[in-house]
Amino acid sequence: MPTSRFSISRFWIMPLMAILSVACLAQVPVPEPVTDQETELGQAMYKQLRDKGEIIESSPLYDTLKPVAEAISRVAQPRYPHPFKFFLVHETQPNAFATPGGNVYVVDSLLYFVKNTEQLAGTLCHEVSHTIHRDGVALMEKERKIEEREVAAAILLGPTRAHLIAIALIGKLHSLGYSRDAESKADVTGSDICAEANYNPWGLIWLFQDFQNADVGRIPQLLSDHPANGTRIQTLEKHFRDNPSTFSKFSRDPKSATPLSVPKEAPAVFLRPETKGGN
Ligand SMILES: [Zn+2]
Repeated sequence: MPTSRFSISRFWIMPLMAILSVACLAQVPVPEPVTDQETELGQAMYKQLRDKGEIIESSPLYDTLKPVAEAISRVAQPRYPHPFKFFLVHETQPNAFATPGGNVYVVDSLLYFVKNTEQLAGTLCHEVSHTIHRDGVALMEKERKIEEREVAAAILLGPTRAHLIAIALIGKLHSLGYSRDAESKADVTGSDICAEANYNPWGLIWLFQDFQNADVGRIPQLLSDHPANGTRIQTLEKHFRDNPSTFSKFSRDPKSATPLSVPKEAPAVFLRPETKGGN
């Protein structure tokens, strides 16, 4: 504003400034943050699981899951901008998986598969680390071309794009899984989180060792990449050795583990699929 134009009434200046500020705001590029996409994707995946009738709304098993999940959330939450939430789901194979947006799904039978609290904690720490590393988003990007085709084929049916991608991604989380590198990184970050939450990070290694001898059909899918498991254990052990101030206080002996109390034959109430036209 030229200094010679003091005569301009402030009644003109004010609207002018308002117009200028609006113009400036309009010029600021509105980013589409990846975190918002993550939330949208996470919600679509939640709806997908709910509509399949898999999500357990209430069960005594939550009493077992909750304290472990909460302790891990307290440590993991500062590393991720959306709230971590843990849901029990019912599927045939013991498993756990995390979706973009902060939701972590734990298959009910996993609670019977793990032998102690540390193994459960290790699994949850590993899963929240996938979310922190945004591995689900990366997997989605990697498979984008296939999904584009799926979206193009199904778009006439009306569901939203996020919903379609969610369907595709849920399938991929169950079938393809992540690269070995992504798995090892999730192990390492997971061990840091478990240690900070005061769960013995050897729990994940104990789980690896247990299922190495297990019947193939019962191996949790999240751990079913056999050839890589030796490498994953080695990577974790090296990480423990390299960071003695964090890890040396934890015993590598599974006999030191804390038993997990799991209610037998726990009844489950399932979240009802949303009625037509609902949100
Ligand atoms: Zn994993």
